[in-house]
Parts: sequence; C-alpha cells; structure tokens
Amino acid sequence: MKDKKKHCLKCEKPIYCSNLCHHHFMNYFERKIIRTILKFNLFSKKDRVAVAVSGGKDSTVCLYVLKKLGYNVEAITVDVLIGNYTKKNLDNIRKVCKKYNINLHEVSFKDDFGKSLPQIESAVHKKGIGYSSCTICGVLRRYLLNKYAKKLGFDCICTGHNLDDEAQAFVMNIFRNDLQLAKRQGPITGAGANKSFVNRVKPLYLCTEKETTAYSRMMKFPVNYGDCPCREGAYRKEYADMLDKFEKKFSPTKYNIISFFLRTIYNMKDETVRKEKINDEIEVKEINACQYCGEPCSKEVCKRCEILIALKK
Ligand code: SF4
Ligand SMILES: [Zn+2]
Ligand SMILES: [Zn+2]
Repeated sequence: MKDKKKHCLKCEKPIYCSNLCHHHFMNYFERKIIRTILKFNLFSKKDRVAVAVSGGKDSTVCLYVLKKLGYNVEAITVDVLIGNYTKKNLDNIRKVCKKYNINLHEVSFKDDFGKSLPQIESAVHKKGIGYSSCTICGVLRRYLLNKYAKKLGFDCICTGHNLDDEAQAFVMNIFRNDLQLAKRQGPITGAGANKSFVNRVKPLYLCTEKETTAYSRMMKFPVNYGDCPCREGAYRKEYADMLDKFEKKFSPTKYNIISFFLRTIYNMKDETVRKEKINDEIEVKEINACQYCGEPCSKEVCKRCEILIALKK
C-alpha cells in the first residue's frame, strides 16, 4: 500500500512543508498572507506600503510576497551599524531590491544619531541607563522607521513579525502581568488615536516561523539565518523553546494563543479606543502618555525619549 504521508495533500509530489509539495505550499503560504491582509484590513492596493527590511528571512519574505501580489510596496531599512553583520545584511537587501525591482530607502543610526548601536549603548550605559542593546536597537529603529515613513508619505509600515513571534510576546506579557503591553500587540499597532504614528502592520501574523523559513529557503533568498552578535535573547529563547515543546505535543498551541489574544485583548483594545473617544478622562486614567512625544508608556517619559535625551546631554 502507498504511504500517503509522503505525498502532498493535493497531488502526488513529495512533501516540502505543511504536508504540501513546493508548488502547493507556495500557493497556500501566499494565500494565507492575502487572507491576513483582508481579515484584519491591513492595507489595500491603493496604499503606499513601506516594508521594514532587516536582511533576515521574515522581512525579505514579506517584501517579496507583497510585491508579487501586486501591492504598492517599497523597502525601508535602518542600518544600526554592527560591523560586518549589518554590512552583509545591507548587501543582501540591496541584492533583493535590485532583483525584484523594488525601491529601497536606506536610513542609518550614524546619519540621525551620529553613532552606531554599540556606541549608543555605551553612551547610554555611561549615563546610568541600563537598557540592553536589543531594547535600544528596537526603540530607536521604530522611531526612525516612523519618522521616515511619515516623511516619505507611506500609509503604513509592514514588519516581518510572524505567528511564533507574536505568540511568544503575548505569553511573555502574561507571565509579566503586563496588560498594557499586551494591549499594544496585534496585527495592527502604532497609530491608534495619535496621528503622529504611522500604522505598523504584520502581514505574516498567521504564518509560522517554520513556514516562513521554508518559503525563504525555497526561494533561495540571500538572507542571514544566523543570530545578530548583539542579540540578548536568552530570556526570549526560553519562551520560544517552551512554546515549541507544547506545539510538538499539543498542536496547534501557537494558533490557539493568538486566537485567544484576538478574541479577548485585541477586542478589548478596540473597546478601550471607543471609550477614550467618548470620555477623555478614561484615557488619562488608563494610559500614560510620554511628556515629550505623547507615545503611550508606563512611565512619564518613554524609553525612546529617555535614550535620546541621554545622548544629547
Ligand atoms: S538582535 Fe537585538 S541588537 Fe541585533 S538587530 Fe535585533 S534588536 Fe538589534
Ligand atoms: Zn502538491
Ligand atoms: Zn517619548
């Protein structure tokens, strides 16, 4: 008897990923991205969409698929200057954009802050602010992406966050009892009521890490599959390993986490926004706004302003 498991669910070809052959996996993956865009109303074909690319697999896959699907996309990258690691990433990004005829906007920490990420980290640490390199990198990169996306007139910024990233982040927020941060998660984040922030959207929101990696390898994209030398991911990796373990035993754990988040917190967020419109007092009580930039934050000054102020002193 023929062993059916070795064949694609839709044809006789061998399995590549998700029980599908190369061809059917490609269709399934791309359709999943279309469904995500439509389900969460991320953007339309009329919108000018910026994809934040890092040279990693997720953002490269996101950029390529959106271009293939006919969206009006351009790439934007922030060079944080971590020696050869980011040099190679930038080379790869340029290659991809050239090959697929995508306009690329390059922004750099040097141009805006006069320093590389390692230099900023040491300057900030000297001022007694102990944020990790990933926190500084993430906060400042988000700031520059927003600044340039706004300046260049984009309607939204796409990031390459996938289902695994989002499930890990949500579980982390539960374990830390951080409802405020959990409320700022989801397939669309950023703008809300504050018009100075461009919407950040996640077309790979329902695609797993495994699927995204498989798509990237299948397309032979020139991307870096290794870890950044500045990564301080031990804590985050604990969550990734734990969820992988659960997924293996009790699939689909990750989908269930995201589904639970969408049915509870994500709807609650909408509810909060509606309430805020009716009664400004609620906004004051529920969410702190940074006294410099107005971004929601847990303290009086957000992390970004805290770092930028320390750099100026
Ligand atoms: S791993 Fe951390 S330091 Fe490296 S690029 Fe990512 S956020 Fe930045
Ligand atoms: Zn097939
Ligand atoms: Zn601020």
